[in-house]
Amino acid sequence: MPDGLGAPFAEPLFQRLALIGMGLIGSSLAHVTRRKGLAREIIVFDSSAGVRARVAELALASQVVEAPAAAVDGADLVIICVPVSAIGSVAQEIAPYLAPGTILSDAGSVKTAIIKAVAPHVPPTVHFVPAHPVAGTEHSGPDAGFATLFLNRWSILTPPEGTSPKAVARLASFWTGAGANVEVMQADHHDLVLAITSHVPHLIAYNIVGTAADLEEVTQSEVIKFSAGGFRDFTRIAASDPTMWRDIFLNNREAVLETLGRFNEDLSALQRMIRNGDGKGLFDLFTRTRAIRRGIIEQGQETSAPDFGRRAGET
Ligand code: NAP
Repeated sequence: MPDGLGAPFAEPLFQRLALIGMGLIGSSLAHVTRRKGLAREIIVFDSSAGVRARVAELALASQVVEAPAAAVDGADLVIICVPVSAIGSVAQEIAPYLAPGTILSDAGSVKTAIIKAVAPHVPPTVHFVPAHPVAGTEHSGPDAGFATLFLNRWSILTPPEGTSPKAVARLASFWTGAGANVEVMQADHHDLVLAITSHVPHLIAYNIVGTAADLEEVTQSEVIKFSAGGFRDFTRIAASDPTMWRDIFLNNREAVLETLGRFNEDLSALQRMIRNGDGKGLFDLFTRTRAIRRGIIEQGQETSAPDFGRRAGET
Protein backbone atom coordinates (compact mmCIF):
# COMPACT_ATOMS: atom_id res chain seq x y z
CA MET A 1 0.00 0.00 0.00
CA PRO A 2 1.65 3.32 -1.06
CA ASP A 3 2.25 5.75 1.79
CA GLY A 4 1.13 8.80 -0.22
CA LEU A 5 4.53 10.52 -0.08
CA GLY A 6 5.35 9.90 -3.74
CA ALA A 7 8.67 9.05 -5.35
CA PRO A 8 11.98 10.16 -3.80
CA PHE A 9 13.78 13.16 -5.32
CA ALA A 10 16.37 12.29 -7.94
CA GLU A 11 18.66 14.99 -6.49
CA PRO A 12 18.47 15.92 -2.79
CA LEU A 13 17.26 19.46 -1.99
CA PHE A 14 19.96 19.89 0.68
CA GLN A 15 23.40 18.37 1.11
CA ARG A 16 23.49 18.11 4.88
CA LEU A 17 20.51 18.40 7.23
CA ALA A 18 21.29 18.87 10.92
CA LEU A 19 18.52 18.00 13.36
CA ILE A 20 18.89 19.12 16.98
CA GLY A 21 16.38 17.27 19.18
CA MET A 22 15.21 13.83 18.11
CA GLY A 23 11.76 13.50 19.65
CA LEU A 24 8.54 13.08 17.70
CA ILE A 25 9.24 15.95 15.31
CA GLY A 26 13.00 15.44 14.82
CA SER A 27 12.65 11.71 14.25
CA SER A 28 9.71 12.18 11.87
CA LEU A 29 11.80 14.67 9.90
CA ALA A 30 14.62 12.12 9.76
CA HIS A 31 12.21 9.42 8.52
CA VAL A 32 10.70 11.56 5.78
CA THR A 33 14.08 13.03 4.74
CA ARG A 34 15.40 9.51 4.19
CA ARG A 35 12.20 8.27 2.57
CA LYS A 36 12.05 11.20 0.10
CA GLY A 37 15.77 11.85 -0.31
CA LEU A 38 15.33 15.46 0.86
CA ALA A 39 18.96 15.68 2.03
CA ARG A 40 22.06 13.72 1.16
CA GLU A 41 23.10 13.36 4.81
CA ILE A 42 21.33 13.70 8.16
CA ILE A 43 23.45 14.61 11.18
CA VAL A 44 21.66 14.62 14.53
CA PHE A 45 22.22 15.67 18.10
CA ASP A 46 20.02 15.25 21.16
CA SER A 47 20.97 16.26 24.69
CA SER A 48 19.81 12.90 26.01
CA ALA A 49 22.37 10.09 25.69
CA GLY A 50 19.51 7.57 25.78
CA VAL A 51 17.82 9.26 22.82
CA ARG A 52 21.12 9.40 20.89
CA ALA A 53 21.62 5.67 21.45
CA ARG A 54 18.05 4.91 20.35
CA VAL A 55 18.40 7.05 17.21
CA ALA A 56 21.54 5.11 16.32
CA GLU A 57 19.74 1.81 16.94
CA LEU A 58 16.86 2.88 14.72
CA ALA A 59 19.36 3.99 12.05
CA LEU A 60 17.53 7.28 11.65
CA ALA A 61 20.58 9.35 10.72
CA SER A 62 23.84 9.19 8.79
CA GLN A 63 25.63 10.27 11.98
CA VAL A 64 24.70 10.82 15.62
CA VAL A 65 27.09 13.30 17.24
CA GLU A 66 27.90 14.25 20.82
CA ALA A 67 27.65 18.04 20.54
CA PRO A 68 25.36 20.50 18.77
CA ALA A 69 28.35 22.29 17.18
CA ALA A 70 29.43 19.03 15.53
CA ALA A 71 25.91 18.49 14.18
CA VAL A 72 25.71 21.83 12.38
CA ASP A 73 29.26 21.71 11.01
CA GLY A 74 28.93 21.91 7.20
CA ALA A 75 25.13 21.73 7.28
CA ASP A 76 23.16 23.75 4.72
CA LEU A 77 19.89 23.23 6.62
CA VAL A 78 19.60 23.17 10.42
CA ILE A 79 16.25 22.49 12.10
CA ILE A 80 16.01 22.86 15.88
CA CYS A 81 13.39 20.41 17.19
CA VAL A 82 13.71 20.85 20.96
CA PRO A 83 11.08 22.16 23.42
CA VAL A 84 10.22 25.84 22.91
CA SER A 85 12.02 27.02 26.06
CA ALA A 86 15.33 25.48 24.89
CA ILE A 87 15.33 26.77 21.27
CA GLY A 88 16.99 30.13 22.09
CA SER A 89 19.88 28.58 24.02
CA VAL A 90 20.46 25.96 21.31
CA ALA A 91 20.57 28.75 18.70
CA GLN A 92 23.08 30.65 20.82
CA GLU A 93 25.26 27.56 21.16
CA ILE A 94 25.33 26.65 17.46
CA ALA A 95 25.42 30.17 15.99
CA PRO A 96 29.24 30.48 15.80
CA TYR A 97 29.46 27.20 13.86
CA LEU A 98 26.88 27.95 11.17
CA ALA A 99 28.36 28.30 7.67
CA PRO A 100 27.43 31.34 5.56
CA GLY A 101 24.30 30.68 3.50
CA THR A 102 22.94 28.05 5.92
CA ILE A 103 19.19 28.03 6.49
CA LEU A 104 18.44 27.91 10.21
CA SER A 105 14.92 26.85 11.15
CA ASP A 106 12.98 25.35 14.03
CA ALA A 107 9.74 23.46 14.60
CA GLY A 108 8.52 25.31 17.69
CA SER A 109 4.80 25.61 18.29
CA VAL A 110 4.93 29.34 19.08
CA LYS A 111 6.73 31.84 16.91
CA THR A 112 7.00 35.40 18.30
CA ALA A 113 8.82 34.32 21.48
CA ILE A 114 11.15 32.05 19.50
CA ILE A 115 12.08 34.79 17.04
CA LYS A 116 12.83 37.07 19.99
CA ALA A 117 15.03 34.39 21.57
CA VAL A 118 16.84 33.25 18.41
CA ALA A 119 17.22 36.27 16.11
CA PRO A 120 19.84 38.11 18.22
CA HIS A 121 22.22 35.14 17.87
CA VAL A 122 21.88 34.58 14.12
CA PRO A 123 24.94 35.70 12.11
CA PRO A 124 24.06 38.07 9.24
CA THR A 125 25.23 35.49 6.67
CA VAL A 126 22.73 32.88 7.94
CA HIS A 127 19.06 32.78 6.85
CA PHE A 128 16.72 32.34 9.81
CA VAL A 129 13.35 30.98 8.65
CA PRO A 130 11.19 29.89 11.60
CA ALA A 131 8.62 27.18 10.92
CA HIS A 132 5.84 25.33 12.70
CA PRO A 133 4.53 22.04 11.31
CA VAL A 134 0.91 21.83 12.44
CA ALA A 135 1.09 18.09 12.86
CA GLY A 136 1.60 15.93 15.88
CA THR A 137 0.44 13.12 18.06
CA GLU A 138 0.25 12.79 21.83
CA HIS A 139 3.42 10.63 21.74
CA SER A 140 7.00 11.82 22.29
CA GLY A 141 10.50 10.52 21.76
CA PRO A 142 12.43 9.00 18.84
CA ASP A 143 10.25 5.89 18.65
CA ALA A 144 7.15 8.02 18.07
CA GLY A 145 8.33 9.41 14.71
CA PHE A 146 7.04 8.30 11.31
CA ALA A 147 7.55 9.48 7.71
CA THR A 148 3.95 10.51 6.98
CA LEU A 149 3.46 12.73 10.06
CA PHE A 150 3.47 15.90 7.92
CA LEU A 151 1.57 14.49 4.94
CA ASN A 152 -1.30 16.85 3.98
CA ARG A 153 -0.73 18.89 7.13
CA TRP A 154 0.29 22.56 7.14
CA SER A 155 3.74 23.87 7.85
CA ILE A 156 3.59 27.56 8.69
CA LEU A 157 6.70 29.62 7.94
CA THR A 158 7.06 32.94 9.79
CA PRO A 159 10.14 34.66 8.29
CA PRO A 160 11.04 37.92 10.06
CA GLU A 161 10.97 41.03 7.86
CA GLY A 162 13.92 41.18 5.50
CA THR A 163 14.46 37.39 5.26
CA SER A 164 15.76 36.28 1.87
CA PRO A 165 12.76 35.14 -0.24
CA LYS A 166 15.04 32.55 -1.83
CA ALA A 167 15.75 30.99 1.58
CA VAL A 168 12.03 30.98 2.39
CA ALA A 169 11.32 29.26 -0.96
CA ARG A 170 14.03 26.66 -0.31
CA LEU A 171 12.65 25.80 3.12
CA ALA A 172 9.13 25.72 1.65
CA SER A 173 10.32 23.18 -0.93
CA PHE A 174 11.74 21.03 1.89
CA TRP A 175 8.36 21.01 3.64
CA THR A 176 6.38 20.33 0.47
CA GLY A 177 8.87 17.53 -0.22
CA ALA A 178 7.94 16.15 3.20
CA GLY A 179 4.29 16.08 2.06
CA ALA A 180 3.13 19.23 3.84
CA ASN A 181 1.30 22.28 2.55
CA VAL A 182 3.10 25.53 3.24
CA GLU A 183 1.69 28.85 4.37
CA VAL A 184 3.72 31.98 5.11
CA MET A 185 2.43 34.17 7.93
CA GLN A 186 3.57 36.87 10.33
CA ALA A 187 4.67 35.40 13.65
CA ASP A 188 2.14 37.29 15.80
CA HIS A 189 -0.72 36.24 13.53
CA HIS A 190 0.50 32.63 13.70
CA ASP A 191 0.40 32.81 17.51
CA LEU A 192 -3.17 34.10 17.51
CA VAL A 193 -4.39 31.50 14.99
CA LEU A 194 -2.72 28.69 16.94
CA ALA A 195 -4.08 29.99 20.26
CA ILE A 196 -7.62 29.28 19.07
CA THR A 197 -6.96 26.19 16.95
CA SER A 198 -4.52 24.39 19.23
CA HIS A 199 -3.42 26.04 22.46
CA VAL A 200 -6.77 26.87 24.06
CA PRO A 201 -8.32 23.52 22.98
CA HIS A 202 -5.43 21.78 24.77
CA LEU A 203 -5.98 23.94 27.85
CA ILE A 204 -9.67 23.03 27.86
CA ALA A 205 -8.80 19.34 27.56
CA TYR A 206 -6.24 19.54 30.38
CA ASN A 207 -8.83 21.35 32.47
CA ILE A 208 -11.77 19.00 31.93
CA VAL A 209 -9.66 15.90 32.52
CA GLY A 210 -8.32 17.52 35.69
CA THR A 211 -11.87 18.40 36.81
CA ALA A 212 -13.03 14.82 36.24
CA ALA A 213 -10.08 13.50 38.22
CA ASP A 214 -10.98 15.76 41.16
CA LEU A 215 -14.76 15.06 41.27
CA GLU A 216 -15.83 13.60 44.57
CA GLU A 217 -19.31 12.39 43.57
CA VAL A 218 -18.20 10.39 40.49
CA THR A 219 -15.50 7.76 40.92
CA GLN A 220 -12.38 7.45 38.73
CA SER A 221 -13.50 4.02 37.57
CA GLU A 222 -16.88 5.45 36.46
CA VAL A 223 -15.13 8.21 34.52
CA ILE A 224 -13.02 5.61 32.70
CA LYS A 225 -15.87 3.12 32.21
CA PHE A 226 -18.23 5.66 30.63
CA SER A 227 -15.56 7.72 28.84
CA ALA A 228 -16.92 6.97 25.34
CA GLY A 229 -19.55 9.65 26.01
CA GLY A 230 -17.04 12.28 24.88
CA PHE A 231 -14.55 12.40 27.73
CA ARG A 232 -12.02 10.07 26.13
CA ASP A 233 -11.52 12.40 23.15
CA PHE A 234 -10.38 15.04 25.62
CA THR A 235 -8.08 12.55 27.35
CA ARG A 236 -6.18 11.95 24.10
CA ILE A 237 -5.36 15.66 23.89
CA ALA A 238 -4.70 15.91 27.63
CA ALA A 239 -2.11 13.11 27.33
CA SER A 240 0.16 15.43 25.32
CA ASP A 241 3.71 16.06 26.49
CA PRO A 242 3.73 18.17 29.70
CA THR A 243 7.06 19.92 28.94
CA MET A 244 5.98 20.94 25.46
CA TRP A 245 2.65 22.31 26.63
CA ARG A 246 4.01 24.10 29.67
CA ASP A 247 6.41 25.89 27.30
CA ILE A 248 3.66 26.77 24.85
CA PHE A 249 1.50 28.47 27.49
CA LEU A 250 4.45 30.34 28.99
CA ASN A 251 5.57 31.53 25.56
CA ASN A 252 2.24 32.41 23.92
CA ARG A 253 0.74 34.10 26.96
CA GLU A 254 -0.81 37.17 25.32
CA ALA A 255 -2.65 35.35 22.51
CA VAL A 256 -3.79 32.53 24.81
CA LEU A 257 -5.13 34.94 27.44
CA GLU A 258 -6.92 37.00 24.81
CA THR A 259 -8.56 33.90 23.31
CA LEU A 260 -9.42 32.54 26.78
CA GLY A 261 -11.17 35.83 27.57
CA ARG A 262 -13.41 35.37 24.53
CA PHE A 263 -13.94 31.72 25.41
CA ASN A 264 -15.04 32.57 28.95
CA GLU A 265 -17.57 35.11 27.65
CA ASP A 266 -19.01 32.55 25.22
CA LEU A 267 -19.12 29.91 27.95
CA SER A 268 -21.07 32.30 30.18
CA ALA A 269 -23.52 32.87 27.32
CA LEU A 270 -23.97 29.10 27.00
CA GLN A 271 -24.50 28.82 30.74
CA ARG A 272 -27.22 31.46 30.48
CA MET A 273 -28.92 29.63 27.60
CA ILE A 274 -29.07 26.42 29.65
CA ARG A 275 -30.32 28.25 32.75
CA ASN A 276 -32.99 30.09 30.70
CA GLY A 277 -34.06 26.97 28.79
CA ASP A 278 -33.05 28.68 25.52
CA GLY A 279 -33.26 25.59 23.28
CA LYS A 280 -33.19 27.66 20.09
CA GLY A 281 -29.95 29.37 21.12
CA LEU A 282 -28.31 26.04 21.89
CA PHE A 283 -29.60 24.43 18.69
CA ASP A 284 -28.40 27.34 16.53
CA LEU A 285 -24.91 27.26 18.04
CA PHE A 286 -24.59 23.47 17.69
CA THR A 287 -25.71 23.73 14.05
CA ARG A 288 -23.00 26.31 13.33
CA THR A 289 -20.30 24.23 15.03
CA ARG A 290 -21.31 21.13 13.09
CA ALA A 291 -20.69 23.01 9.84
CA ILE A 292 -17.13 23.80 11.00
CA ARG A 293 -16.44 20.08 11.50
CA ARG A 294 -17.76 19.38 7.99
CA GLY A 295 -15.35 21.99 6.61
CA ILE A 296 -12.41 20.35 8.38
CA ILE A 297 -13.30 16.94 6.90
CA GLU A 298 -13.78 18.45 3.42
CA GLN A 299 -10.29 19.97 3.61
CA GLY A 300 -8.76 16.57 4.46
CA GLN A 301 -7.70 17.59 7.99
CA GLU A 302 -9.77 14.82 9.64
CA THR A 303 -11.55 11.62 8.75
CA SER A 304 -15.33 11.37 8.47
CA ALA A 305 -15.22 7.76 9.68
CA PRO A 306 -17.52 7.12 12.61
CA ASP A 307 -15.96 7.50 16.06
CA PHE A 308 -13.08 9.64 14.76
CA GLY A 309 -11.80 6.84 12.52
CA ARG A 310 -10.95 4.55 15.41
CA ARG A 311 -10.69 0.90 14.59
CA ALA A 312 -12.42 -1.63 16.80
CA GLY A 313 -10.44 -2.20 19.97
CA GLU A 314 -8.42 1.03 19.54
CA THR A 315 -8.55 3.46 22.43
P1 NAP B 1 9.94 15.62 22.18
O1 NAP B 1 9.37 14.37 21.56
O2 NAP B 1 9.79 15.82 23.63
O3 NAP B 1 11.49 15.70 21.80
C1 NAP B 1 12.34 16.76 22.13
C2 NAP B 1 13.76 16.19 22.20
O4 NAP B 1 14.69 17.29 22.34
C3 NAP B 1 13.97 15.27 23.41
O5 NAP B 1 14.66 14.12 23.03
C4 NAP B 1 14.79 16.16 24.34
O6 NAP B 1 15.62 15.40 25.22
C5 NAP B 1 15.62 16.94 23.37
N1 NAP B 1 16.19 18.15 23.94
C6 NAP B 1 15.70 18.92 24.94
N2 NAP B 1 16.52 19.99 25.14
C7 NAP B 1 17.54 19.86 24.25
C8 NAP B 1 18.69 20.62 23.97
N3 NAP B 1 18.95 21.75 24.63
N4 NAP B 1 19.54 20.20 23.00
C9 NAP B 1 19.27 19.06 22.31
N5 NAP B 1 18.20 18.29 22.54
C10 NAP B 1 17.34 18.69 23.49
O7 NAP B 1 9.36 16.92 21.48
P2 NAP B 1 8.64 17.08 20.05
O8 NAP B 1 7.21 16.71 20.23
O9 NAP B 1 9.44 16.44 18.99
O10 NAP B 1 8.68 18.67 19.89
C11 NAP B 1 9.84 19.33 19.43
C12 NAP B 1 9.48 20.77 19.02
O11 NAP B 1 8.49 20.70 18.01
C13 NAP B 1 8.88 21.61 20.16
O12 NAP B 1 9.39 22.92 20.06
C14 NAP B 1 7.39 21.59 19.89
O13 NAP B 1 6.79 22.79 20.33
C15 NAP B 1 7.35 21.45 18.37
N6 NAP B 1 6.16 20.77 17.84
C16 NAP B 1 5.67 19.65 18.46
C17 NAP B 1 4.53 19.04 17.94
C18 NAP B 1 3.94 17.82 18.60
O14 NAP B 1 2.75 17.53 18.44
N7 NAP B 1 4.70 17.05 19.36
C19 NAP B 1 3.91 19.55 16.79
C20 NAP B 1 4.49 20.66 16.17
C21 NAP B 1 5.61 21.27 16.70
P3 NAP B 1 15.06 15.13 26.71
O15 NAP B 1 13.84 14.28 26.54
O16 NAP B 1 16.20 14.45 27.39
O17 NAP B 1 14.75 16.48 27.29
